[in-house]
Amino acid sequence: MPSSGQDFFVEGDLVGVLTTQPLDRLLDYRAPEGGCHVGAFVEVPLGPRKVPGVVWGAGRGDFDISKIRQVIRVLDVAPMRAEMQEFLRRAADYTLTPMPAMLRLATRAPGLSNPPSMQKIYRMGHAAPDRMTDARRRVLAVLEEFGGLSFTLGELAEQAGVTTSVVKGLVKQGAVLEEDCPRDLPFPRLDPERSGNTLTGDQAQAAEALRDGIRAGSYGTTLLRGVTGSGKTEVYLEAVAETLRQGRQALVLLPEIALTTEFIARIEARFGARPAEWHSGVTMTERRRTWKMLGEGGCQVVVGARSALFLPFRDLGLVVVDEEHDTSYKQEDGVLYNARDMAVLRASICGAQVVLASATPSLESWVNAEAGKYQRLDLTARFGAAVMPEMRAIDMRAETLPASRWISPTLKQAVQARIDRGEQALLFINRRGYAPVTLCRACGHQIGCDHCDARMVEHRFQRRLVCHQCGETKPIPTTCPSCEAEDRLAPVGPGVERLTEEAQALFPDATIATLSSDHFGSARALKEQIKQIAEGDTDLVIGTQLVAKGHNFPRLTLVGVIDADLGLQGSDLRAAERTFQLMRQVAGRAGRSEAPGMALLQTFQPEHPVIRAILSGDEEGFWRAEAEERRHAGVPPFGRMAGIILSSPDAAEVFDFASELARRDAPVRAVGAQVFGPAPAPIARIRGRHRVRLLVKAPKGVALQGAVAQWIAQLKPPGQLRLAVDIDPQSFF
Ligand code: ADP
Ligand code: ZN
Repeated sequence: MPSSGQDFFVEGDLVGVLTTQPLDRLLDYRAPEGGCHVGAFVEVPLGPRKVPGVVWGAGRGDFDISKIRQVIRVLDVAPMRAEMQEFLRRAADYTLTPMPAMLRLATRAPGLSNPPSMQKIYRMGHAAPDRMTDARRRVLAVLEEFGGLSFTLGELAEQAGVTTSVVKGLVKQGAVLEEDCPRDLPFPRLDPERSGNTLTGDQAQAAEALRDGIRAGSYGTTLLRGVTGSGKTEVYLEAVAETLRQGRQALVLLPEIALTTEFIARIEARFGARPAEWHSGVTMTERRRTWKMLGEGGCQVVVGARSALFLPFRDLGLVVVDEEHDTSYKQEDGVLYNARDMAVLRASICGAQVVLASATPSLESWVNAEAGKYQRLDLTARFGAAVMPEMRAIDMRAETLPASRWISPTLKQAVQARIDRGEQALLFINRRGYAPVTLCRACGHQIGCDHCDARMVEHRFQRRLVCHQCGETKPIPTTCPSCEAEDRLAPVGPGVERLTEEAQALFPDATIATLSSDHFGSARALKEQIKQIAEGDTDLVIGTQLVAKGHNFPRLTLVGVIDADLGLQGSDLRAAERTFQLMRQVAGRAGRSEAPGMALLQTFQPEHPVIRAILSGDEEGFWRAEAEERRHAGVPPFGRMAGIILSSPDAAEVFDFASELARRDAPVRAVGAQVFGPAPAPIARIRGRHRVRLLVKAPKGVALQGAVAQWIAQLKPPGQLRLAVDIDPQSFF
């Protein structure tokens, strides 16, 4: 596959290959028969194995020439573009991630080395099987669940947890269809000329500004701000349309898989065909197809999770980051990157536009817009009749509540009034499970996880205690593990399940639905429930953070926040920002159509500046005050931070190492940074590993990454000790 303008190596030339193996340098090989381009995906011999890699450039030739082996073959996929190489390199420098790990992110599609060919795929048939077994039921359930997608035999069997012979049995009976299909077909074309909705005045203006950016064909970032329901999606779909007209590709990032189906339906309605999807719920076959088609130009739009940023777009013209403030854009595992920042980096390299959409932007983006680095567009009104709900505090100091009850009389009355009028109410509590603490009334012991420094959370639906850190579960004991007293264990504090119980007692005739991520085995089940709430006869929804994210409940007119103070505790730098965003987002669920909405916040500190800012609705005032405080403290975005997280099964080892590292902080002090710690991480043990943190604070504008890299390179971590660097940490757990 020729790619003009890129270097070409003829057979026998020395080439440097980046592999996904954890090696700290490129490996020299000889170009294969027929030669290869820079960027070619190849298979190379490494010891006794064959491993995948990318021809990164010319070889160095500093290796024993006689031992250099030849590239085995060039894979039949589009070569990595120069801009992708640069993106990976700069993302690696920014996050201090080794290049092989970056390449793994960029090749997260299995079977790339498979030759193009036909394959058998399986989908739902029409006949019923003669006899229904558990295994057969599972196969049919999987096909039902992922209706639009087709599976290979292996994928279907694995998803269903059955042997392939179960699937074949179903094929014989016509309950499952087997078909020949070419691998990796292009996606159907999306048509930008189909007409969309007629935009209102400020929507039309915003859309025009975005189109101008796309037409310019160069990099630019826009913060698109507008309350929920103001038509941000409507507006950025116009930017997608313009991107398609220019023959370029678009990527839309969403913070939550559960939102993709609704969104894809919207794209299909607007452009007449479905885009590609990229997230953990997508089958391997579809992933490979998307990956390959993007490189060949057979795919125009991808809707996905943050890892879609590392897909091999041939000509990326637009990246939308919807709900850009959402914390799930920060990857907290493996390569620690912030998808919002990486979107900006990637776009700046390939001359694309970025749209950051939010009702409550992150402080970082707000500051960038103020400083003129980002264009800012505001949608001020909700579409149609809907207005932002009225917001009021319920002063909990003035309410009388029995022990272990959380719904105040004032809130109860407000909910009852909605139910009586046939409207919907939502109670929000940001805690999964039944109760956050299980306490022994005899000795005061709190049940903790055996592997983590965390309390086990009772989940009554599952009848188990669950560790929210490592996922470990155990049955709820009847005797105290510490003093062995019988039947003295009691739940303390509310979770969403316990609140449901309380609501059932208060509103016995109401239809109540509980929304918590752990109650749904699959994204599809959750989606079903959400659809039912939106269309059905639910009176009262009780939910966790899940409900704050973009779902649309037209009959909802009241939001009650059980504990508005919850997020304000703790020393997290972003506590105020997060609480502000979350409360505004949740409140925004109320009054999306004609009936006016109201949000009631239960709080013990109605005078708290954050609570007052939430209630007054003076968002600009809040951001200004918050920005001023951060500037004063020299913290992000006005200063820089990096976290070093060290962990090991051996507590002494990890502390010794951290202390030694802290003593050798000269390289970071040389650039004006300070090192704090070592200190036990807020969660001092996870999965049996003891965790210690060092925090680096530096003035804005210093070359922090280089200094940190130099600093940590001085000491080699002993065998079982892990060191992770978190540049611009978002959470401090
Ligand atoms: P946001 O992304 O800001 O939450 P949406 O774009 O989802 O807002 O718009 C909210 C609702 O209003 C959607 O159902 C959308 O289809 C509808 N809507 C917004 N603008 C228009 C318009 N100009 N014409 C018709 N419907 C619109
Ligand atoms: Zn645990």
